[in-house]
Amino acid sequence: MHRRLHLTARSRKQTSPTAFAEAERAARALAAKWPEVQLLNPGGMVRIIVEDMSSEAAKDVLETFRHLAAHVGLEYQHYGVVLWDPEDFAQADFVACVGVSLDGTPDGPFVVNEKEALRPAPPDPRCGHALPMARIQEADLRVREAALLGPGDLAESRQPAPPGGWDAVTLVTGGLVVSTRFLAVLKREGATGYHTRPVIAAETGSPSARAVQLLPDRIVCVPCPGHTEASPPGPCPFCGIQRGQLEGREFRPRSQVDGVSLFVADPFPLGMIAFSRSLLTALEREGIRTLAPIVPLLVCDD
Ligand SMILES: [Zn+2]
Ligand SMILES: [Zn+2]
Repeated sequence: MHRRLHLTARSRKQTSPTAFAEAERAARALAAKWPEVQLLNPGGMVRIIVEDMSSEAAKDVLETFRHLAAHVGLEYQHYGVVLWDPEDFAQADFVACVGVSLDGTPDGPFVVNEKEALRPAPPDPRCGHALPMARIQEADLRVREAALLGPGDLAESRQPAPPGGWDAVTLVTGGLVVSTRFLAVLKREGATGYHTRPVIAAETGSPSARAVQLLPDRIVCVPCPGHTEASPPGPCPFCGIQRGQLEGREFRPRSQVDGVSLFVADPFPLGMIAFSRSLLTALEREGIRTLAPIVPLLVCDD
């Protein structure tokens, strides 16, 4: 993993002309000195991005702006965004994944009855937290089967469907509708910890022969507080919503994930699904390459 530095100084309107001019001059000098310093100057703002927050260039940027704050009263904000590298996914025990999105096509969304089938969930009664993505399923999903054969959005680019159609489609909640081919691999590999729900082909009104909704039996959403570094106050112990910021690799206790090949990694039942690495390897071996890795998860011995 690495952290990307984002630094934003106050805009021309919000600060003194002297401080702003100093910030602009310093930013230009930093960009000239370090090739990895990206300078964005949208409409009277100074924004700097450095891909690796631990690099000498990033340290120079932070030191320079600390100095400006002390000497000309410049106000700025900075933060680091955690980004995962390929080796993080290769070393993970489970990987939370998304599939293709088929909602950006001119023929309309993939799920045609989203409003009726997926009602917004009320706040968790134990802690009062609510996530806008949390939904309660009240009916089978009706989907446009034809969209499985058309282009979709995967890993930030629009791509044509693979031969035979897409194998995993992301829902608004982060969960998945998968192909019967995908399901056959889960069965063949002896995957455990899931059930399925039929989806209805909107074209015919009958249960789809191509796709089903994949529903893990277990939610394991709270990162292990002993091993996962997070800035206070950390995850809510009831619903798992992260209140502080995760500072590093995310762990799940073995006692909670033992015996399952997949689980829901978000604090609501229709959320993003994490698959064991061996299952992901098997899916890939069978030619199923529709899953995009989002969060690597490690298992700790409690
Ligand atoms: Zn909560
Ligand atoms: Zn732990």
